[in-house]
Amino acid sequence: MIDTVTTYDVVVAGGGPAGAATALRLARAGHTVALLERSRFDRPRVGETLAPSIQPLLRDLGIWEQFVALGPLPSWGTRSIWSSTEPAAHSHLENGYASGWHVDRRLFDRMLLDAAADAGACVSLGTSLVGSRYDALWQLTCSGGRRLTGRVLIDATGRSATIGRSLGARRIAFDRLVGITAQWNGVDVAAEQYLLIESVPDGWWYTAPLPGNAMVGMFMTDADICRHHNLTAPNPWRTHLASTTATALRLDTALRLDTALRLGTALRLGTALRGDTATHLGPTTRSTTSDGVRLPTTPRVYSAASHRLVRPGDTRPWLTVGDAALAVDPISGSGVPRALRTAEAAATTAARLLTHPADPAPLTTYESTRNAECTTYLSTRADYYAVALPHPTPFWTRRRTLTPA
Ligand SMILES: Cc1cc2nc3c(=O)[nH]c(=O)nc-3n(C[C@H](O)[C@H](O)[C@H](O)COP(=O)(O)OP(=O)(O)OC[C@H]3O[C@@H](n4cnc5c(N)ncnc54)[C@H](O)[C@@H]3O)c2cc1C
Repeated sequence: MIDTVTTYDVVVAGGGPAGAATALRLARAGHTVALLERSRFDRPRVGETLAPSIQPLLRDLGIWEQFVALGPLPSWGTRSIWSSTEPAAHSHLENGYASGWHVDRRLFDRMLLDAAADAGACVSLGTSLVGSRYDALWQLTCSGGRRLTGRVLIDATGRSATIGRSLGARRIAFDRLVGITAQWNGVDVAAEQYLLIESVPDGWWYTAPLPGNAMVGMFMTDADICRHHNLTAPNPWRTHLASTTATALRLDTALRLDTALRLGTALRLGTALRGDTATHLGPTTRSTTSDGVRLPTTPRVYSAASHRLVRPGDTRPWLTVGDAALAVDPISGSGVPRALRTAEAAATTAARLLTHPADPAPLTTYESTRNAECTTYLSTRADYYAVALPHPTPFWTRRRTLTPA
């Protein structure tokens, strides 16, 4: 329970993977930590496919057994229609850890937060940090009006980076990517333990199995294209889905939708279906088909825009971690491992600020390392998109110029 009398060594705003892992490390090192999380983990979370590199990071945090107890699905690799119309396969057997993982992100994030609490962090769920002022100490205001004080403040609020921005840091956005997603339950995923990526003229599709016999499908495009095609409405979203080749075929097979997704020959030949598909599929909130497979509910949209948050010349003891510091395109598959990796650097920097509050070097080093990561990321992203099929559409041509959005 957060104590409003104590002055915490570190206050972390945001209990996603970055905030929880930072709080865990600092609490284990003996610092007093308050961790504020806006949600109560009562809503779905996206980002369900974890790269094999997650394993050493979780072992290093001492929570590998807790992770295995969640019952994650091994992910054997990636199949993609990206640089060729012929599917390409990449097996995780080629790396040292044999598999990646498909997880329920709500459970995964909660597991990390519980580990931080077990380590001694004072966790407050359903609590947003809404105000901050620095005057030798951080004077902080939470939702509901509760106040607390801290020596070091960490913004782990994810892509919104609300705290850093409110403190005057500048967000450099590199694109306007969004993910529009739906989930099907009651799917037999035994033969589906891989990630499928497919490029299409307006963006790319991502499908993956989830623990508990579910499958997630996500369309990644730019916010303006999403608006133009009204893709948050179920029927346009599904019409786009039906225009894919491998993705629609995968879902058609996996979902066994013998009534609603009887797309038959058209899909198998990879033919784009006409607008009347949506009518054919029927309303989204209907429905269990004759074999008991549910259709997805209304698609949800998430910002997936890349950015870097910069704070030149600000020597106050605060820092950003995870997506708040540097948010990357999900095509890189590196979001969660990156969040856990930067948590280690953030915890080290915060600890150094506690012992040497007047020394600007730790912050400078931390920020320049994030800048270097950002440069590497942008170059890797350019490589990914450069080898993609040459669709002559705005989504793809924008990514060949790659200037800030
Ligand atoms: C569509 C999409 C698909 C993705 N797919 C993958 C994938 O397959 N694999 C992968 O590794 N990564 C993926 N990612 C990226 C991955 O989800 C993120 O990189 C990762 O979640 C970053 O962790 P974080 O802790 O920095 O931020 P977040 O996970 O966003 O956590 C931020 C937390 O801060 C809380 N918060 C926000 N504001 C406040 C406030 N004022 N006070 C208190 N709490 C606050 C939020 O409730 C949230 O819990 C995907 C991202 C998107 C958008």
